[in-house]
Amino acid sequence: MADYRAPVKDALFTLRHIGMLEDLSKTERYAHADPETVAAVLEEQGRFMQEVFAPTNAIGDRVGLKWSPDGVETPAEFRAAYAKFVEAGWQGLNADPEYGGAGFPESVFACASEFETAANGALTMAPGLTTGAIECLQHWGTEEQKEVYLRKLITGEWTGTMNLTEPQAGSDVGLCTTRAVPQGDGTYLVTGTKIFISFGEHDMADNIIHLVLARLPEAPPGTKGISLFIVPKFMVGDDSSIGERNDVRCVSIEHKMGIHASPTCVMSYGDDGGAVGYLVGEENQGMRAMFTMMNSARIAVGIQGAALGDAAYQKALAYSQERRQGREIGGDSKEPAFIISHPDVRRMLLFMRSHVEAMRALIVYNAAALDLSRALDGDEATAWGEIAELLTPVTKAWCTDVGMEVTSTAVQVFGGMGYIEESGVAQHYRDMRIAPIYEGTNGIQAMDLVGRKLGLRMGGVVNDLMDRMTATVAELDAAGESFASMATELQAGIDTLSDVTSWIMTSGLADPKEALAGATPYLRIFGIVTGGWLMARQALAARAELDAGSSDSAYLEAKIVTARFYADQQLPQAAGWVASVKGGAAVLYDVDADQLASV
Ligand SMILES: Cc1cc2nc3c(=O)[nH]c(=O)nc-3n(C[C@H](O)[C@H](O)[C@H](O)COP(=O)(O)OP(=O)(O)OC[C@H]3O[C@@H](n4cnc5c(N)ncnc54)[C@H](O)[C@@H]3O)c2cc1C
Repeated sequence: MADYRAPVKDALFTLRHIGMLEDLSKTERYAHADPETVAAVLEEQGRFMQEVFAPTNAIGDRVGLKWSPDGVETPAEFRAAYAKFVEAGWQGLNADPEYGGAGFPESVFACASEFETAANGALTMAPGLTTGAIECLQHWGTEEQKEVYLRKLITGEWTGTMNLTEPQAGSDVGLCTTRAVPQGDGTYLVTGTKIFISFGEHDMADNIIHLVLARLPEAPPGTKGISLFIVPKFMVGDDSSIGERNDVRCVSIEHKMGIHASPTCVMSYGDDGGAVGYLVGEENQGMRAMFTMMNSARIAVGIQGAALGDAAYQKALAYSQERRQGREIGGDSKEPAFIISHPDVRRMLLFMRSHVEAMRALIVYNAAALDLSRALDGDEATAWGEIAELLTPVTKAWCTDVGMEVTSTAVQVFGGMGYIEESGVAQHYRDMRIAPIYEGTNGIQAMDLVGRKLGLRMGGVVNDLMDRMTATVAELDAAGESFASMATELQAGIDTLSDVTSWIMTSGLADPKEALAGATPYLRIFGIVTGGWLMARQALAARAELDAGSSDSAYLEAKIVTARFYADQQLPQAAGWVASVKGGAAVLYDVDADQLASV
């Protein structure tokens, strides 16, 4: 089946027109990230992922992992590919240059992460979790911790993990019971069990740096009493030399629906008296440290929707040009036609293509907002930071829900072969299924959007975003007849979003349960409309490039048609979710649990 091709051209187009790359490269922080350099970096990184990561994807799915009391054995091909990844230095692309990183913007890193995840979603979990640990230590680590741990994480020689989940503490992290007892010498002894820890144990790196949430003796209950600790697999000297094994081990790994070669570990801390840990940040401030990296971690999971969606789309498109069935409607050939000529298959392909582009644009915009909040000062920085905050739950949840639909549609394009593993498309569908669950389930994201983010600046942030959307309608109106229906549909979408936003905010004030009952469909509307806005902006940019005489008319014209399809056929679906938003909580509780079980 078709090999994965990194969509470098579309990523660069999106970075230029949606990701404000030109503006970013004018800031001091990102002066080195000029469009030419970024193009060269993404070309090279995309090639690397195509040639090194992608060929190991199906192998990992088939071979899986081997657990023993000594550790977890990953496929040999993973070890080889990861070694090349470290050698090439890709781990540090967005990391702090002071500690060996390349300091590129999150928006550029998001595109690189998309290529990496699409090439091999299971293997990418290792660098993905390491990125989270890097960000946490960059922000909260002491100088000494940065020298000792950060440098090795940024090279990728060591990997990182995030240890939040425990059997009784999933979405409700405040129920964490892992304990950390101070030893009086600046260290702590950590004891407890963490479950579902991605790459908690493996054989691809020399050391694993676990970031572990734990509770000090006498800590207040709930999230206010949680602290964060570095617990290395092997003890580390001041010069980063590796010493004795710490008292932490992987006692088993899970057997999963997808990402078979990403070890999901049950980690036991302190079976022999306590694992040595080092406090990160202040005591009882562990959740603050977690929140620091939450925006990029959640964007990273949203990326999985665009990445696996695109990988599946590429396979489906190739298959639709090889598989012959049925006669072409209106054609005169007696031969069976390629299935791509059938209207229903075309519809599926356009559905996938338009959503992949919309997801990519949302991710890039969200990440660029984060970049601008870091690169600018004062009110401008604050305003971009607010937009990043607002959009993050939408990026995480909408992109992963849509990613499921896109990978499912790709299976459908294959017909029966889609259900057969040999086609490879089923793996993308299975691998995708975890993304709406981890890093805060999509239900929790919807609650975050409705309960915390809409209230930012008393609703001012969401209103500002809708004003930006409205400004695009004016541009579409001015762009002539061919953009008229896009303008109409986008305006209708904004009106719908505005209407349900007011409803959620008003009813949420009266009774939070009402707003929470409609939170998930509300987030859906938010995603559909924001996606439509960003597609319209891309269409306008494509038109402008064509008018300026660009020679790449095939790509640019396809971009406009794809945006038109989204505007005419996908955007109107936002209105269909309104009844679900406003349905309220009462009907959900008009049956009790026993009645739900009655047949
Ligand atoms: C493959 C895999 C890898 C993972 N990797 C990691 C990792 O590296 N590190 C780590 O710490 N964890 C990891 N996790 C754990 C993951 O983050 C959790 O599974 C996830 O946060 C959900 O927690 P839970 O499974 O306990 O589900 P629960 O919290 O029990 O949720 C069950 C259902 O109830 C809903 N729900 C829960 N609370 C509420 C509420 N208050 N209001 C409304 N609905 C609610 C949820 O949305 C969900 O639908 C991983 C999990 C898997 C499967």
